[in-house]
Amino acid sequence: MGGVVVVMFDRGGDASELSNVLELVTDAWNYFPQKYMQPKYDLDKIKFATDGPTFEKAVDLYEKGKVTKFEEGIGGYSAVVIGTKPYKVYVDNRHYDQGDCECYLGQNDTLCKHMVAVAIYAVMGGKKLNDEDKRLVSQAVCSGRLGELGKSELAATKKAISGGMRYVKSYEGPSHTWFAYQNSLSEGCNRLSKIVSELPVSEQTAKLLVDTLLRLDDRLCHGGVDDSDGTVGGFIEETVQVLKEYVKLDSACVKAFSELEGKETCFGWEESLLDIVHK
Ligand SMILES: [Zn+2]
Repeated sequence: MGGVVVVMFDRGGDASELSNVLELVTDAWNYFPQKYMQPKYDLDKIKFATDGPTFEKAVDLYEKGKVTKFEEGIGGYSAVVIGTKPYKVYVDNRHYDQGDCECYLGQNDTLCKHMVAVAIYAVMGGKKLNDEDKRLVSQAVCSGRLGELGKSELAATKKAISGGMRYVKSYEGPSHTWFAYQNSLSEGCNRLSKIVSELPVSEQTAKLLVDTLLRLDDRLCHGGVDDSDGTVGGFIEETVQVLKEYVKLDSACVKAFSELEGKETCFGWEESLLDIVHK
């Protein structure tokens, strides 16, 4: 905050500008009354980037009050998590998966449920998690609900899709970043799965899904994505199944598939959709 004031003085601002800045600072302070600094991650980040079983165990620890002696330190949070025995845990405030835990996994540089539980505590501040907070979407499924998205919903959904797509990036790093890279692909696919699973069913959303698959396909074929674990391919296949469900619920959805006509995709996922068009 001091930085804001200094910058203003450098620009030779007058006293009224100073009072504006102070007002802004006070407003910000009142708006964020927490005693500690919010982490740079949120619950979605933790949920989508952690493997499902670890996330669920961490939620269980959090809900059973096993995160004790939570304290903010410089650049992170410390706590004692009561597992099979009490473990001292430290979690960074910028990267929830960086830190330290006394348990066996933590000692072997593996993200453990204790660290994730402390990260959840840092995000939630001890508040109760609701069902939506806890719900894991590990697979793209059809919502089964007919309907279209409104204009602003459509824009927000497209933005969220692009957001998820950013995690499906090209692999450039040396081999020791391989694990982090695969994790990024699965985080992207988890984010996209959640979006797909919440969409109402209509020709409009079918078109949105077909466009999303073509974008992902382009990344797989030409974007340097290394999907040797099959994470992205698996998501594409799930979404193809979702699109088949769409046609069963609303036959007009098939019109969205015509865009696939004449396209050569990486592994021929479009063929079964085109078969429906040609039937
Ligand atoms: Zn641990």
